[in-house]
Amino acid sequence: MLRLAAGSHPGWVRENNEDAYLAERLPGDDRWLIAVADGMGGHRAGEVASWLALATLRERLLEGAGLADAVCAANEAVFRRQADDPRLSGMGTTLTAAVVGPGGAVQLCHVGDSRAYLLRQGELARLTRDHSLVEEFVRSGALTEQEARRHPQRNLLTRAIGTEATVPVDEATVQLKPADVLLLCSDGLSEALPDARLAALLVQQVTGEDLGAGVEILIQAALDAGGADNITAVLARWDGEDS
Ligand code: MN
Repeated sequence: MLRLAAGSHPGWVRENNEDAYLAERLPGDDRWLIAVADGMGGHRAGEVASWLALATLRERLLEGAGLADAVCAANEAVFRRQADDPRLSGMGTTLTAAVVGPGGAVQLCHVGDSRAYLLRQGELARLTRDHSLVEEFVRSGALTEQEARRHPQRNLLTRAIGTEATVPVDEATVQLKPADVLLLCSDGLSEALPDARLAALLVQQVTGEDLGAGVEILIQAALDAGGADNITAVLARWDGEDS
């Protein structure tokens, strides 16, 4: 089975929490859904965008849609909502979502700069590539990873849910092995904690019964590092088929 834990904190600077997440076993189903959305937009539009995206995603999955189609439906829903309501104009959200099937088979879909990581035998690997300007600069060699972390335009996205009528969705599949851990998080966590620090914290915290303590420790570490943004983390540990 898949063991789940999740949490979110507004951080020390922002008044609202525009991040949202899902972490559940889908009702009447042998599948689990985990997702993180980091909304953007003035007033409370960011919250509308992230929650609408997740609600649409979940609804479509329960109706039998595939994950990528459900993500496209989420894009349409957010895009249409802001066309209908000028107060929400300019809103959008990231969306990183995974469906885990009964044998530990993971389908992953991703748009934006939230992230999915896989911790396997103490090694942390990124499963997603940020759709951000600085990520493109890092890939082209124009910026180092460290420079990107401090770049003034580091929050500029090249893709988001709800900002255009259609959006290209990155897709990946992973086969989980027993004791593997998936981490989905918003940039409030990954910007505060470099991968090496994240890996060190995860290795210490995700093996016990209480996965929730692992989430709390990650969020606390991001708060201690400044807490400049909303912080969200979802942990999912595959304990094997029969456990
Ligand atoms: Mn954020």
